[in-house]
Amino acid sequence: MIRPLLAVLELSLAVAAAPVPALAWGPEGHEVVAAIARAELAPAIRAKVDAILATDPDTLTAPDMIARANWADAWRDGGHKETAAWHYVDIELDHPDVGAACHDYPSVSGPASAGPAEDCIVDKVDSFEAELADPATAPGERLLALKYLLHFVGDMHQPLHSSDNHDKGGNCVRITLGEPRTLNLHRYWDTNVIEEQDPDALHLAGVLRARITPQQRAEWAQGRPRDWAMQAFEVARRTAYTIGSAPGCDTGAAPVALPPGYDAAARAAADLQLERAGVRLALVLTRDLARMPVSGG
Ligand SMILES: [Zn+2]
Repeated sequence: MIRPLLAVLELSLAVAAAPVPALAWGPEGHEVVAAIARAELAPAIRAKVDAILATDPDTLTAPDMIARANWADAWRDGGHKETAAWHYVDIELDHPDVGAACHDYPSVSGPASAGPAEDCIVDKVDSFEAELADPATAPGERLLALKYLLHFVGDMHQPLHSSDNHDKGGNCVRITLGEPRTLNLHRYWDTNVIEEQDPDALHLAGVLRARITPQQRAEWAQGRPRDWAMQAFEVARRTAYTIGSAPGCDTGAAPVALPPGYDAAARAAADLQLERAGVRLALVLTRDLARMPVSGG
């Protein structure tokens, strides 16, 4: 099903070469991550997630866990640009410094959902995890923390959401998939690389989850969100940016053709990142909600 947001994007791509805004994994990517995570969760934790989500009157997305994984994009696009920078961390290819990309980790006083606007996805995942795990967090803020985590753990695994070549995470890089189709590199990684291999999110989630080995599960459970972002950065360096685009935002640059083998490598890398994100989202929800009473938020 083509969602309205996607329909608008397709239209904007057809009429303009201007970069579209960073979206993070497209809707399907987030659904795949949430579906993998949901299948990974123990029934007791799944019940706690559902109990918190059941308190939510919001109608921006459907109320279930998988649909709510796209809530943060809908919220941002619905007039909340102050949350836009939370969806990524611009770790620069020529100077990979997470602290700088995270604006030196601004201190947060008050609810994490209230700001500051200048913050990065690594900080937001840490902050929302702390809120979700803290029994003293107000129920409304715990609900927001859960919804942001459902989305941001996915986003940070999109390689171009944890990397930058002074090109707005690839938004400035126009690529061609054969005339007359041109789109930008960021969107290709958000959407095309997933939808063109399987447009059915639940089916793709099942296929990807089935091949995760116990050894991978154990390995992916290591580290902190900051390490996961650095790993996604490395994936971008070794795959997404092998396209050889120049740094910066030259709006007059000709579209770049994908090098031979790029598409297959991109799909393999994206699939692996979706698998990692699903396993880690389940890990995050489990460690944050393990001690929460079953009665919910
Ligand atoms: Zn996002």
